[in-house]
Amino acid sequence: MDTPIEVLHRVFGYDSFREGQQEIIEHVVKGGDALVLMPTGGGKSLCYQIPALVRPGVGVVISPLIALMQDQVDALRALGVRAGFLNSTQGIDERQAVEAAFLGGELDLLYLAPERLRVDSTLRLLARGDISLFAIDEAHCVSQWGHDFRPDYLALSGLHERWPEVPRIALTATATPATHAEISSRLGLDQARHFVAGFDRPNIHYRITAKSEPKRQLLEFLRTEHPGDAGIVYCLSRSSVEKIAEFLADNGIPAVPYHAGLDAATRAAHQSRFLREDGLIVVATIAFGMGIDKPDVRFVAHLDLPKSVEGYYQETGRAGRDGLPATAWMAYGLQDVVQHRRLALEGDEAHRRRQVLHLDAMLALCETAGCRRVLLLDYFGQELDKPCGNCDTCQTPPESWDATVPAQKVLSTVLRLFRERRQKFGVGQIVDILLGKTTAKVLQHGHDSLTVFGVGTELGNTEWHGVVRQLLAQGLLAVEPAHGALVLTDASADVLRGEREVRLRRDAPRPARSRPSGGGSSSRQAVELPAEAAPLFERLRAWRAATAKEQGVPAYVIFHDATLREIATLAPSSLAELGKVSGVGENKLAKYGEQVLETLAS
Ligand code: ADP
Ligand code: ZN
Repeated sequence: MDTPIEVLHRVFGYDSFREGQQEIIEHVVKGGDALVLMPTGGGKSLCYQIPALVRPGVGVVISPLIALMQDQVDALRALGVRAGFLNSTQGIDERQAVEAAFLGGELDLLYLAPERLRVDSTLRLLARGDISLFAIDEAHCVSQWGHDFRPDYLALSGLHERWPEVPRIALTATATPATHAEISSRLGLDQARHFVAGFDRPNIHYRITAKSEPKRQLLEFLRTEHPGDAGIVYCLSRSSVEKIAEFLADNGIPAVPYHAGLDAATRAAHQSRFLREDGLIVVATIAFGMGIDKPDVRFVAHLDLPKSVEGYYQETGRAGRDGLPATAWMAYGLQDVVQHRRLALEGDEAHRRRQVLHLDAMLALCETAGCRRVLLLDYFGQELDKPCGNCDTCQTPPESWDATVPAQKVLSTVLRLFRERRQKFGVGQIVDILLGKTTAKVLQHGHDSLTVFGVGTELGNTEWHGVVRQLLAQGLLAVEPAHGALVLTDASADVLRGEREVRLRRDAPRPARSRPSGGGSSSRQAVELPAEAAPLFERLRAWRAATAKEQGVPAYVIFHDATLREIATLAPSSLAELGKVSGVGENKLAKYGEQVLETLAS
């Protein structure tokens, strides 16, 4: 029987374990239960795949990612691992073939959708086979506090009663202390060993910018920092997804939409293009992305405020899984706050309380003058001992200014409208009054006779919106759910009486970040490739693209960019030398070795 390190070398072609992997793998190989918290790209898959290969029997992997199972299984087969899946997308023949392979001991790994476990026939099937372990992937789906609850996951607590001797390993990339505790208790893993890796993703640059003209801002971000790169743009609604995808395409940037309103075939086609093509952008709602392990996603952009920090971290974590520089960019503005404050007032009491807590944490991240990464990690219960140097606030510390007087002007306008006129208005009207604009609506309501009319000409329209946004974020002002009218809060009174100073951050237009290397070319080629290796790298990429197409798999299933880059740099002349490259395991060496050497020599 192989040891874990032998499997790592032989099957996966990697030199050494990453932080945490070895301990987790050894624990599970010995039959222990484990709960694993590791960031996206940290290397969770090996933590169950290697034990499944070392222990006798089939490793059963529960995963909600039905649309990705085929790719996951393809990637394993390319490594020579015997893998199969069972889910609702299969025809009866295919299912029976997988079941027979499972019972015949011809599988190392079997991927299952969680809803399969509610079906009696599946349980009977599992009972007749020999199971080496249960891996529960995306384990945060069992948590109602988290952002991705799936009722089918609750049934997973029953696995241990049916198979008490089979070790279970639950894994997630997203868990605050509260979610962590909930996963543990719901899956009955309180007695399991908990492994919590560092959550930092140092290669991701975080940037949150004030939203003024989102489309233009997005276009500029893409053109200056990520030309030709693959990435994801998140929007809140289906209609904005459609609009933005069209806008990008009109501007010559290849982009496709993805949301739950599209039919299944279109969604599958767009996802598949994203995985297979270079440099495609998916504009999506949060329906897209879980389990997408495309390693070279170079940016994740948010055009709307995510509902929680957990959601934000999970979504941004899809960038840069290959460890190369990547950007998490967000444009956020007043309307985001208004809309979220309103959404947070829907549903039952417990739901509302959760939403408000989630939103406040998200706003704190957006408005902070300190290091974003420090705040993010703190949210996940981890400490960073110094500012990161790779986020916008570290690189361009925001100025703060004393906004007590402007804040008083806003609040007193809201107060006077209500006291003197019994009226409530949204931000547009309040700002028009402050600026002394004689719009039709101002004249219609006679607001030009208020004493506050025209008292705010020291700031422009955009600055006033920034002030109102930050007052809302700090709870010094509130919005009414029905019409988005601004109303005072208990804390407003302190400001109006002059007993509380208001400090706000200045929303300065930021200069584009200079890239760490390479003038304008996409970061994909720019990193760590000696000039003389570039032509070889391009040849290898062309070979890989053709091979991937022929086999109908994503290019990274053949070899990752990082592996091709190392091959191009070393220019090996024998199979033995090629086999030493990280990511070239036994099976891939046998399958592609000769072709790679020929490509290098041609
Ligand atoms: P996660 O599921 O935690 O997001 P993955 O398991 O997909 O991460 O791993 C992320 C990437 O890192 C994959 O491309 C994987 O092949 C690679 N990887 C994992 N472990 C190692 C290792 N020990 N050495 C080199 N690469 C690794
Ligand atoms: Zn920082």
